[in-house]
Amino acid sequence: MLPGKTNVIDRTRLAKLILREEELFEKKHPRSKELFEKAKEHLLAGVPMNWMVKWASPYPVFVADAKGAKFRDVDGNEFVDLCLGDTGAMTGHSPDGSVKLISEQLAKGITFMLPTENSLWVAEELSRRFGLKYWQFTLTATDANRFALRIARQLTGRPFVLVFNWCYHGTVDEAFITLSDGKPQARRGNCGPQVDPAKTTKVVEFNDVEALEKALAAKDVACVLAEPVMTNIGIVHPQPEFLDKVRELTKRTGTILIYDETHTICTGPGGYTGAHGLKPDMLTIGKPLGSGIPGAVYGFTDDIASRIRERTNIEDCDTSGIGGTLAGNALSIAAMRATLENVLTEEAYTKTIPLANRFVEGVERVIAEFKLPWIVKQLGCRAEYWFRETPPLNGGEAAAAADFELDRYMHLAALNRGILMTPFHNMALISPATTAGDIDKHTEVFRESVEQLLA
Ligand code: PMP
Repeated sequence: MLPGKTNVIDRTRLAKLILREEELFEKKHPRSKELFEKAKEHLLAGVPMNWMVKWASPYPVFVADAKGAKFRDVDGNEFVDLCLGDTGAMTGHSPDGSVKLISEQLAKGITFMLPTENSLWVAEELSRRFGLKYWQFTLTATDANRFALRIARQLTGRPFVLVFNWCYHGTVDEAFITLSDGKPQARRGNCGPQVDPAKTTKVVEFNDVEALEKALAAKDVACVLAEPVMTNIGIVHPQPEFLDKVRELTKRTGTILIYDETHTICTGPGGYTGAHGLKPDMLTIGKPLGSGIPGAVYGFTDDIASRIRERTNIEDCDTSGIGGTLAGNALSIAAMRATLENVLTEEAYTKTIPLANRFVEGVERVIAEFKLPWIVKQLGCRAEYWFRETPPLNGGEAAAAADFELDRYMHLAALNRGILMTPFHNMALISPATTAGDIDKHTEVFRESVEQLLA
């Protein structure tokens, strides 16, 4: 057994239960199976994107339609969706508040390589929420991060970026690095890296002020790219004053501080930055901004803007490595306006966060009933249960507690009972369309899954 693994689970029983749940799944999903078999003719592994092989079921559920917090599959099964497109649909699926404006824009032209008036509204609203003056648009959060890193290297003339161990910021080459026995190395599974990421990146543990100070001391780091609360190896909160230290050390060493709010937007309408008055130099966010229509942004301070301006060259601006033909298109920006104006509003969070509290209370009740050494963590409208007794302090500790087999059982058992969990760790996200009934259904299903595991 690996360190940190829960020791209350009978692994033989777990393996048997997985087989039983797989059989149950097959019975309920004949049409998905048919489509999956056919899909293999022209789609690698039968899926349109390689991550979709990660679902705990023998093949993925094919979706027929979705609205709000629910979707139906091609076999007519209905699900409460707590995955929500891994945050892309945190607004709920096709929310009415966005669909109208998106549909209108669809009929009026989709992409022009010219600005539309909505971009002014969106930039102003982002400034109000996150406190940064200037904004630029991309299609994905990955791109927003890639461009922020390029800008940071250009402005500082420094070669390295710094990330925290077990971070995830999209398919950004520099961020595919982890610590192994304290040494940086390419992250497991990193596919065809351009260069050894240790040549581009320094990596330290989250909440380790001393290591951060040491890594920044040589003043060769262009930027720190971080989620203010880690979410991609489970939720790992900053220790009190850690983020103050990050700000102080980056400022002192002339290192640009970039916060990635792509997931931490679950904290509130201005993300963790807005909720805690953080002062990054740059900020990136994507995924739910356009209610699922691809769109992302990066923002920056007045100071960064003037440093960029000094280096702007009109003749070469289209081949700078920053931008993209479809970035800033009219449809994405209309979708962002609709989302910010009508869906991911202040009011929405007053509904979703209490529901996340309800999720936590429900899961904690079950954990207490069965005396499990597990915990639940919450960040705004995101919540997650862990197979360990105490909150992890950093990515390394969090990664050590991962239990792939147990995750798969919990996810598949939930799926068979009408609940879709995110296929990465045990994360649930609450949308403005989610109801108390949906949350209670999860609690019930979680209890049943645990009960049969321990029987
Ligand atoms: N930043 C964070 C914090 C993320 O979690 C992700 C995706 N999980 C990304 C960036 C990249 O988003 P995308 O895949 O949409 O580019």
